[in-house]
Amino acid sequence: MARQGSSHTAGRRAKGSSAVFGSRTDTGCVREQNEDSLIVKPPLYVVADGMGGHAAGEIASEIAVRTISELAPDTADTEALSKAVVQANRNIINAPLSGKGREGMGTTCTAAILDGTHLAIAQVGDSRAYLLHNGRLSQITRDHSLVANMVEAGQLTPEEARIHPNRSVITRALGNDPTTTPDLYEINVEEGDRLLLCTDGLSTMLEDEEIQAVMNRIPDPQQCASTLVSGALVAGGLDNVTVVIVNVTGSRAQANRRMSVRTKLTAFFIIVLLALCLGGAAWGGSAYLHHTAYLAASESGTVNVYRGVPGEVLGFSYSELVEETDIPVSDLPLSAAESISSEQGMRVGSVEEALEIVEEYKSMLNEKKSASSSSSSTSASAASASSASASAAEEADPSQPSEEGGQV
Ligand code: MG
Repeated sequence: MARQGSSHTAGRRAKGSSAVFGSRTDTGCVREQNEDSLIVKPPLYVVADGMGGHAAGEIASEIAVRTISELAPDTADTEALSKAVVQANRNIINAPLSGKGREGMGTTCTAAILDGTHLAIAQVGDSRAYLLHNGRLSQITRDHSLVANMVEAGQLTPEEARIHPNRSVITRALGNDPTTTPDLYEINVEEGDRLLLCTDGLSTMLEDEEIQAVMNRIPDPQQCASTLVSGALVAGGLDNVTVVIVNVTGSRAQANRRMSVRTKLTAFFIIVLLALCLGGAAWGGSAYLHHTAYLAASESGTVNVYRGVPGEVLGFSYSELVEETDIPVSDLPLSAAESISSEQGMRVGSVEEALEIVEEYKSMLNEKKSASSSSSSTSASAASASSASASAAEEADPSQPSEEGGQV
């Protein structure tokens, strides 16, 4: 087990790898603003979960990811990565002196560098790093939280910790103590492995088994990150939620050779490439608007699925009704109902995800309905049995008075 300021090495022989990634962050269904920050700047990936209230938590987490982005090494050097995190801690503590943020603001931070076969991680707080290897998800980092300590002491099970009222109390954060240092981990990874970084808005809303199932089911990292965030929202979205997924797919040496070839392109080719990029950006924007989706309430109060985005973009509407359902918004959990009824609706990554969420709502309401009808029929049976029993008693002894006190 890694300790504060120490290095941790977990051996697994590797063959050489690079990665592609996806990420998504969301305010969630309850919080008014998103205090999480993230950066994906291969080989560096960072998530941070700010705390400190309005206009403070997001500043702390933003200072953390920006400082680490500026100072992190481009190799899996844990000591250099640790120095970047330590400097981020100093910058957060000093920021209020120059009018930025507020004294007492802080943030968690989980920073990873995937350099070929080597993964280096520096972590403070309860934002997590997981590794999916051979289809099994393992938590790499150890939470610096009250409930993690209670689980280690045998006072709570991991399941109880997920719903414990003090689950958000963390025991180490950036921004509080100038001597804070991160836990450090070094791991060798293999082609086919997947790295997950997330804030507790994911890990407190979904169980590890659910996260593992999604990561095994969806190979595309962007779609996978988006689906995980959607899953946290469907489960209630009680906190800001941020997810980074990194696929380990090939050799960094090959990637470097490809970069070397690119540097030899002529100026003419670069101009042509820029023109293509502009066209691609326009196409990409159009494709995004066509791909993304949202759930909103109809005039009659039921859930509708739309392709596109709510409102207008540059004066144009990019919204198309895909499916009308008979699901009453008022029958959904409060947080989901509020999100769907809001002006922006419940935004999701794709129409497919939106339809999956609708199916989950249908199942949930059907289960509630059958549980309630089963309970009513049990009561009716009990009443009928009681009546039959009374009649039988009267027939057996007609001289006895009835319940109303009359004589037969
Ligand atoms: Mg959080």
